[in-house]
Amino acid sequence: MAMIAKQGWRLLTEANKLVSAVMKARYYSDSSVLNVKLGSNPSYVWRGIYQALEVVRAGARRKIGDGEDTMVWKVPWLPDDSHGFIATDEYPQLKNIKVSSLMSADKSWDVDLLNDLFCDRDVDLITRIPIPLRDTRDSCSVEEVMALQLPNKISNLVWRLCKGCLPTAMALASKHVDIDVRCPWCHSEIETDVHIMFLCDFARTVWLTTRVNHLVQCTMNESPCQIFTRAFENGTREQCVEIAMICWSLWNRRNRWVWERINGSVFGVRHSAINFLAEWKEAQVRDEDRRLRGELGRRVWCPPKEGWVKINIDAAVFLDGSIGVGAVIRDSQTKFVIARGRKIAGAWRPREAEAMALIEALSWVMAKGYNHCVFDTDSYELATACNGRPGEAYFGNIVMDCIHMLKHICPVLVDFAYRSSNSAAHVLARAVYSMSDTGEWVVTPPKFLTHVLDLDLN
Ligand SMILES: [Zn+2]
Repeated sequence: MAMIAKQGWRLLTEANKLVSAVMKARYYSDSSVLNVKLGSNPSYVWRGIYQALEVVRAGARRKIGDGEDTMVWKVPWLPDDSHGFIATDEYPQLKNIKVSSLMSADKSWDVDLLNDLFCDRDVDLITRIPIPLRDTRDSCSVEEVMALQLPNKISNLVWRLCKGCLPTAMALASKHVDIDVRCPWCHSEIETDVHIMFLCDFARTVWLTTRVNHLVQCTMNESPCQIFTRAFENGTREQCVEIAMICWSLWNRRNRWVWERINGSVFGVRHSAINFLAEWKEAQVRDEDRRLRGELGRRVWCPPKEGWVKINIDAAVFLDGSIGVGAVIRDSQTKFVIARGRKIAGAWRPREAEAMALIEALSWVMAKGYNHCVFDTDSYELATACNGRPGEAYFGNIVMDCIHMLKHICPVLVDFAYRSSNSAAHVLARAVYSMSDTGEWVVTPPKFLTHVLDLDLN
């Protein structure tokens, strides 16, 4: 019974899931699952759920977000354990109003309206419910997951989790696959995505051994998407990567148990996540190296006009969200003049990082008093933005600052350069990772740049 009650609970809290949609269409298209009638010709499953709804009704409370999905008189939404329904008699003209219509535009309860409509008990209970300031129907944006720049199979898993399309036993059963819906580990709960990843005793034990346990605390009526969204809001980039890795490893362990009967330990799950991440990082560095070497020589660096200097700039985004920015100045004789690298803390996206590299280079070049400058960036977007439309939002703001600063250097150009001709700045920006703050090299380039500077020309 408890298991079916849980099913009923999911119908209540996850109205967007397929099984909920099917049940709703068939049995309670005009009302909430909490005030349905059994109906004629109920299926076996529906009959079970209907009986279990008594259990759900007794303990269910809707969590109020923006109030758009909750009907005032039809469902229990007040914080009262014995009777969560509105006690005031229903007004026939208002019987279909939603909880959202009791709120004012500034996300607070409209107390005057509440006093007009409801008895003191109801008003008291309603005003005790906090209204979240953020739109709680917001879902986790795929962009945020992708911005983590995870290995493909891991971002794919996180994406499926967030979209609610991981093939758990429950998900398969809702598509009429004849399958035992119990969790393969604890056998006592339904295997849903939230259960297998966060709530099952095994998963909980794994999380306890990590540094991100506090970020994945959740309840069964939350979706993975909500859990991830919260983690993205409260955790660092590195912590989010760790969460994604552990989820992937848990799902792996679950599959190996289900399909091959191979059992993994708590530490096995954690270690395979950590090892995979380390290997992947190494492979990325190797690929980067190969790419650099392979492309060098195809599009070579060109010196600026007589009397000008060329400033190659680039940015690197590190796993912890901080960035390295590098600028390398050479003259028209192709001679190395000066270079500077700096690490900037924060959580930056790649294109903003490229714009920050230009800001840094500009203020440095201005302080040095250079004129007749060509800035070469391998971000096509940045080069075009500086020469035309600054673009939207945050990136646009940084570009506006760049354009403003460019006015102080005369004459000046911002050009697009192919990556293969920008490798000195590229290598410098990456090398910044191991520096504590700023490095500057005059006349003699740092060791790690000497061969790259040569290769730029060939
Ligand atoms: Zn379990």
